[in-house]
Amino acid sequence: MTAPDDMHRISPDTRHTVEDVLEYARRRALYEDVPLDKPMSPRDLERLASGSITPEGIGSRRAIALFENVLAPACVSTDHPGYLSFIPSAPSKASLAFDVVVSASAIYGGSWVEGAGAVFAENEVLHWLAKEFGLPAGAGGVFVQGGTIGNLSALVTARDAARRRAADEGRQTPPRWVIVCSAEAHSSIASAAAVMDVDVATAEVDANGRLHGDAVARVLDDHGDAVFAVVATGGTTNFGIVDDIASVGAVARERGIWFHVDGAYGLAAMLVESMRPVFAGVELADSVIVDPHKWLFAPFDACALIYREPALALSAHTQKAEYLDTLTGKPDWNPSDLAIQLTRRARGLPMWFSLATHGTDQYRATIEYGIDLARRIADEIESREGLSLVRDPQLSVVVFRREGWTLADYEAWSSHLLEEQHAFVVPSSHAGEPVLRFAIISPLTTFELLTAILDTLD
Ligand SMILES: *Cc1c(COP(=O)(O)O)cnc(C)c1O
Repeated sequence: MTAPDDMHRISPDTRHTVEDVLEYARRRALYEDVPLDKPMSPRDLERLASGSITPEGIGSRRAIALFENVLAPACVSTDHPGYLSFIPSAPSKASLAFDVVVSASAIYGGSWVEGAGAVFAENEVLHWLAKEFGLPAGAGGVFVQGGTIGNLSALVTARDAARRRAADEGRQTPPRWVIVCSAEAHSSIASAAAVMDVDVATAEVDANGRLHGDAVARVLDDHGDAVFAVVATGGTTNFGIVDDIASVGAVARERGIWFHVDGAYGLAAMLVESMRPVFAGVELADSVIVDPHKWLFAPFDACALIYREPALALSAHTQKAEYLDTLTGKPDWNPSDLAIQLTRRARGLPMWFSLATHGTDQYRATIEYGIDLARRIADEIESREGLSLVRDPQLSVVVFRREGWTLADYEAWSSHLLEEQHAFVVPSSHAGEPVLRFAIISPLTTFELLTAILDTLD
């Protein structure tokens, strides 16, 4: 007979379950050679893994075995050093181990009353980042799920601030609000605009794909008061191109328009001393994002969203409800109130623990490694017959072509590479041309590993 507390009290069964799960987590976290793995068809998974949900349960032993032997191998390991597609992940050992602690501790990260200690630690990280980005001491924010939610939350705050200003100044709000960004801006900006039911006006980029202030100024001339936010990108996802943030920010400032910097992938590079000039102007931002799950060595999923004036985010995002009055009536720092969310995991803690453990110098050095490796492999690509760079890498993304190959050639090569469990490199495209792309995040990705991949392109 089952008792209601069978899953919760400490018994030999629950004890074994916890120990078995943590033992598996321990093994996975300490793999010397992470297997790359690959997806499986729905039909194969149906055959091998269905039927796990039953009235009586299959027991933790069987469930773990199913995960370890069938389900996990059907997921590509994004932390494999040969995972070079999209933006890989490379959580430090400290951060991924601490993620287990976050789960084990049942922390509610939404309010100060409930999660003060966790919120304090997360804020230590956010304040350090804000300082690195040149933002004033009052800047602050919250870790949200990802860059998409970070951008959306920042833009919602921007529109709210614009609405309030218009009201204060006795102006009508425009029939359609407009966001200005470059055509190279991340797809999440268009997605945010769709959710917010606002328009996007794109400004021209230069021959290197960079957005400059003069192009933004021209678009602003066309749209006037309808524009509530200008977005610059601190490292595009496809190429790692950093806009001319200083001139874009200056124009936004001059016109009194909210300036948002989307640095989900690339802004981490600003932590490297020699790269700081590339990001000049970030200090003008009203809001910025950077994803720790990309180039700050934290596990999925975390985006650091930072506001110059967090009070503006509070007025845009604080949810009002009778059962929440006890929280919202106080001057406490409640992370829930700064973005589109209510209940939240203290998802900044894994990064806090790793940063506290290793120190900021280690972070700078690990990011710099990726930038240096990108330059080295770019030189190697240029020196090889039949290969050419599409553009010099600015951060840690290297885009190149194999002369004479069609998309079908790239795709066949890419599938073979994954099939052989060698690496995960999917084709991308640029101006209609299919290209190859290495996105380098992991310090375990070596020059030798990359040249071995190039060797297969002969
Ligand atoms: C990855 C990325 C995003 C989206 O972030 P998610 O965490 O995937 O939601 C937004 N902007 C840029 C520039 C990115 O590289």
